[in-house]
Amino acid sequence: MKNTRWLSHCISVLYPPRCMGCDQIIVHDTNLCPNCWKNITFIHSPICTCCGTPFDHDSKQDKCAACLDQPPLYTMARSALAYCSYSRKFITDFKFRDKTHYTNTLANWMILAGNSCLNSGTIIIPVPLHRRRLINRTYNQSALLAKTIAKHTSKPAYLHGLLRTRHTTPQTQLSKSKRQKNLKKAFTVNPTYADIIKGASVILVDDVITTETTINSCCKALLDGGATKVNVLTLARKL
Ligand SMILES: [Zn+2]
Ligand SMILES: [Zn+2]
Repeated sequence: MKNTRWLSHCISVLYPPRCMGCDQIIVHDTNLCPNCWKNITFIHSPICTCCGTPFDHDSKQDKCAACLDQPPLYTMARSALAYCSYSRKFITDFKFRDKTHYTNTLANWMILAGNSCLNSGTIIIPVPLHRRRLINRTYNQSALLAKTIAKHTSKPAYLHGLLRTRHTTPQTQLSKSKRQKNLKKAFTVNPTYADIIKGASVILVDDVITTETTINSCCKALLDGGATKVNVLTLARKL
């Protein structure tokens, strides 16, 4: 035990903890320096009970106008953070610069923000990375988050539950309506897990929602595959 403490002391001297936001050395291993803590925005109530967008005033409705007007395919979506210039730095490092040791911290923030999402879901599935990008990048950041959230919440994760569809017919050879249909079907349920997804309440995990196109296509594939509902849990979203 003493040896382990000594070893971790040596490691912290050689590799002192650094702020995920600005790289400066921090005294306590809190992942962010006080300045970056102050500048990142955690999303909290009051929020739309459906899409999770924060209300900037006390709303009499529990859903925002957009969700009332056109209900999304998912039942509820929650995000831990606003995607801003401060959070973009460490999210980009996590996605593209091998800072996979951020996974635990980021997954914990998602668990806190996604309590209701997680409680009413039974299985966890990440948004798959495009094949070409997976070859270049070697890891899928959404799968890392999904795996860690699954471990901490004792829920099963199916990291290859969804697949990107390969379009065998070139888009140019299709009529306009078929082309749109082809684009919409960007994802499909992996046949290996079809029986598990059928009848399941799915928690779909992604890093950032920028547009709802990807999320909607994934929801459609899961619902077409017989999922009873889809909850969406992401690390950050554009507000
Ligand atoms: Zn900082
Ligand atoms: Zn909403």
